[in-house]
Amino acid sequence: MIESSLKELSKALADKKISSVELTQLYLDRMASLNHSLNAFITPTPEFALEVARRADEYRAKNNGHRLLGIPMANKDNLLINGQRTTCGSRMLGDFIAPYTSHVVESILSAGMVPLGKLNMDEFAMGSSNQTSYFGVVRNPWDLTRVPGGSSGGSAAAVSARLSPIATASDTGGSIRQPASFTNTCGLKPTYGLVSRYGVIAFASSLDQVGALGRSVEDVALFMEVIAGHDSRDSTSLSQPVASYVAALETLANTSHSGGRSLEGLRIGLPKEMFVEKGIDAPIWAALEEAKATFSRLGATLIPISLPHISHSVAVYYVIAPAEAFSNLARYDGVRYGYRTPEYADLQEMYTKSRAEGFGEEVKRRIMIGTYMLTEESFNIYYIQAQKVRRLITDDFNRVFTECDVLLGPSTPITAFEIGSVAMEDPLQMYLNDIFTIPANLTGMPALSIPCGFTEQGLPIGMQLMGPLLSEELLFKVGHAYQQVTQWHQQAPNISVQH
Ligand code: GLN
Repeated sequence: MIESSLKELSKALADKKISSVELTQLYLDRMASLNHSLNAFITPTPEFALEVARRADEYRAKNNGHRLLGIPMANKDNLLINGQRTTCGSRMLGDFIAPYTSHVVESILSAGMVPLGKLNMDEFAMGSSNQTSYFGVVRNPWDLTRVPGGSSGGSAAAVSARLSPIATASDTGGSIRQPASFTNTCGLKPTYGLVSRYGVIAFASSLDQVGALGRSVEDVALFMEVIAGHDSRDSTSLSQPVASYVAALETLANTSHSGGRSLEGLRIGLPKEMFVEKGIDAPIWAALEEAKATFSRLGATLIPISLPHISHSVAVYYVIAPAEAFSNLARYDGVRYGYRTPEYADLQEMYTKSRAEGFGEEVKRRIMIGTYMLTEESFNIYYIQAQKVRRLITDDFNRVFTECDVLLGPSTPITAFEIGSVAMEDPLQMYLNDIFTIPANLTGMPALSIPCGFTEQGLPIGMQLMGPLLSEELLFKVGHAYQQVTQWHQQAPNISVQH
């Protein structure tokens, strides 16, 4: 059962081969035996899960219900669920109980899906390795000495290790796609505004987007139909109706009989700035070469293109994201939310000690950078300049999307690294992990990371498909077509339980 796709689980539940309570229990048992090795969940919620599962079974006895009714899932711990602890990976919110439910989780609950618990993450989603979490590093199921990537490391590890069929995640600069590529999972960073940010703890509001991590493109597509959609409580929420992604995949399946050339006519752009042989690890380069050949066999045309300004993406991101984070994190003052230092002489000391003790090193570093970026003397030189370059990067993408339909590139320059090996004292090296993922956040465009091979040591490799605004349906089609003729995404890690 734990290897079943969402469609198979849906059928098993509909055919009464298994009840939601039984299925949920299966996953809870697996979590109980494996989570201490992986540290993927910060807060398992078994009682809540079994109660939701019981209600799903009751509902199914009388009605048909949503396609994903009764299927277990798990949430990144920056999504609020009323009455549940929501930590955002921080001591600051270590015992914060959410007073309301995020739009995303409301949608999940109204489909009747079963939240198993809250997943580990880098503190306030700042990081690329899950090592900044107050609740400890998450271990990569493919090699327990390595990181699963971040900041959605808990989501990626849980899905990869089959502790949950699917999970929510969030991506501000690559936090869905980078962990997807480190753990052999599929991750979509949707178009900005496609998924409501209501009840999502903010990091950098103009970049943050909730998406999904799953084991196949089809699973991610099915789940995205649940969480995408307009919400009037988020002023940046798009009003377009959500396409039926799964129906699009089915039409693809029907046309793919014609000699397997299901991507006939598709134009795939290859950004020369992302295909720099010495800029990415050799096995990733080789895997991408193979993927290009596969896409050609499927009928796609590969077109070399150029995005001249993307080399500035990381620099632009590390001006804009910390500036927004500085503002978003000002609310954690020890008064209104979260942690308050136990001893202080006066109000000023209460503020400073609460923030000094409540936040970790990386979060403080971002707050300091953000504070500096918004000072009178640096605002024009850095912040305004960064916004202008952000526009140039977006213009690059808009231009190339007149010549091609989607872009292909690596998700990351390296594969999963050892815990502690990319020194936390060397933030720049850590920041460069997101060199290929950040552009999609700066432009608001969607991007999908999917498995495309393994290194000789058996570490997963991911590749990224990027498209213009609201091209999710196309990205899913292209990714699904690739997964129809490759088996990478079906490989499961062999986790040895550690005591
Ligand atoms: N790694 C990037 C950062 O640390 C992106 C994080 C994210 O996407 N949430 O900011």
